[in-house]
Amino acid sequence: MSKTIIISNRLPVQLQISDGGLTAIPSVGGLATGMKSVHSGGESLWIGWSGLTDEDTPESLESEIDRALSEHGCAKVKLTAKDVDGFYFGFSNRTIWPLFHYFLEYTEFELDFWNVYKSVNQKFADAIIAHSDENDTIWVHDYQLMLVPQMVREKRPNTSIGFFLHIPFPSYEIFRTMPWREEVLTGLLGSDLIGFHTYDYERHFLSSVRRLLGLDVSFNDVYLDHRVIKVDSFPMGIDYKKFKDAALEHNKNKEDQRSDLQIKLDNHKASAPDTKLILSIDRLDYSKGIAKRINAFEYFLNKYPEYKEKVRLIILAVPSRSNVPQYQLLKREIDELVGRINGELSTVNWTPIWYFYRSLPFENLIDLYTSSDIAWLTPLRDGMNLVAKEYIATRIDKTGVLILSEMAGSAYEMNEALLINPNNFEQQADTLKRAITMPKEEQMARNMFLQNRLERYNVEVWANEFMNSLNRKSEGDETFV
Ligand code: UDP
Repeated sequence: MSKTIIISNRLPVQLQISDGGLTAIPSVGGLATGMKSVHSGGESLWIGWSGLTDEDTPESLESEIDRALSEHGCAKVKLTAKDVDGFYFGFSNRTIWPLFHYFLEYTEFELDFWNVYKSVNQKFADAIIAHSDENDTIWVHDYQLMLVPQMVREKRPNTSIGFFLHIPFPSYEIFRTMPWREEVLTGLLGSDLIGFHTYDYERHFLSSVRRLLGLDVSFNDVYLDHRVIKVDSFPMGIDYKKFKDAALEHNKNKEDQRSDLQIKLDNHKASAPDTKLILSIDRLDYSKGIAKRINAFEYFLNKYPEYKEKVRLIILAVPSRSNVPQYQLLKREIDELVGRINGELSTVNWTPIWYFYRSLPFENLIDLYTSSDIAWLTPLRDGMNLVAKEYIATRIDKTGVLILSEMAGSAYEMNEALLINPNNFEQQADTLKRAITMPKEEQMARNMFLQNRLERYNVEVWANEFMNSLNRKSEGDETFV
C-alpha cells in the first residue's frame, strides 16, 4: 500500500528524557494541526529531527526513542550538534532566513554553513529513501530542506514529490546575490509541485528559474529534463474552529475560572473603561518590525497627544533563535525602547506599554486576543502571519480592528483589515486613530467577510488542496517528449 511521507526540519512531537524515562508529547503548532488529515491512520509517516542531537542521546535510549516516535507515526533523522549548528543556526537562519526576508545586511554567505546544509539535506533525503518506496507520495516542508527534492529524485525518478515554502520567496534581484543560487533552484525543481503562500512569491521563483537557469516557463509550469514542474500558490490557513471554540468557551468562563492574566486585563478595563487595548504578538525576530512598531507608537502619541492615557500597547515577544547575534541585539534594542518610552511617557495612572518577553500558553493567547480592541501587526516581511488570522477567528461578537502590514502574506487574503506600510509612521499614526474611532458596525462588517473566508479556507483545506494538486499532477501528464 502506498503511503504519504511528510518531511520537515522538526517532528510534530517533543521528546523529553527524564528520570521517569522517555515521553513523546505531540506539539500543537499550525503545521501539525494542518497535516492531521494527511498524517493519520497507518498510511503516512512524518520524518524529521527529534530535537535531540546525537550527543544528547544515550545509546541505550535509541530504540526506545524510535518506538516512542513510531507510536506517533514518526521517524527520526539523526543530527550531531555540529550539524544543527551549521545547518539550522548557520545556513537556515543566518543565510536563507535573512536573505528571503530582504535583510541582505544580515545575510552571511559562509561556505562552511553551505557545506553542512548540503550534507544535512542529504541525511534527510537518505532517511526518506530508507523509509519509502517508489509508490509513496512525499511532501517536503520549508526552507531548511530545499535540496531534498532533487536528492530524492536522483534515487526515485518516478516518485511524486511536493515541496511547500513557508517563508517568502524573494525577488530575483535579492535571490541572485546568493552564491549557491543555481543549486538551490535545482534542489527545489526535483519536485513535481512547488507551493508558495502567495502568487507574488510564486512569480519571484519563476522569474529566478527563468533568468538563472534559462529554463522554459509557461504560465506556472517549468519544463526540465522531460519533466513538467508545477508551481502554484496555496495560502496557509488556521485551525479556525479551534480558535473560535476556545473564544466561545473563554466567554462562558465564570469569574472564578479566569486566568491571572485575564483578571489583570479585566481589572484594567474596569479601572479605565474608555481606554483601548492594542495588541501585538510576534516571535522576537527582526522581520517582524517590533522596534519600528514601538517607535511608531511613540510617534502616534506625539502626533495625537489626546490619546495619552487612553490607549495601552501590549507587546508579546516570544523568545526565538537567541543564540544568533542579531536576535540578541534586537532584544536589547526593544528592552531599551520600551524602557525609554515608558520612562518618558508614563503617568501615575498609566503605563503606555506592557511588554512580555516569553511564550504564553494557548489559554493566555485567547485571553489576549479576546480582550484586545485592536491587533497591530507590522512585519517588515512575513511569509504569512498566522497571528492576524487567529485574532480575527476569536472575535465572537465580530468587533475588533486588525491593522496589518501589507508586507505580510496574509494581507493578500485580508483586504478588509486596515493595511499599512510599516515604514510609514504618518500612515500608521493615522490608521491607529482610525482604528480607535472606528464605529462598531464598520468593525463587524469588515470582520464578517474576514471570518467567512478564514473559516472556509482553513488549514485542513490548505493541506488537502496541496495534496490533491500533487496527486492530480502524478496521475496526469507529468512528462513531455
Ligand atoms: N504563538 C505561540 N505562543 C505564544 C505566542 C504565539 O504558540 O506565546 C503562536 C501563534 O498562535 C501563531 C504562531 O505562534 O500560531 C506564530 O505564527 P506566525 O505565522 O504569526 O509567525 P511565525 O512565528 O511563524 O513567523
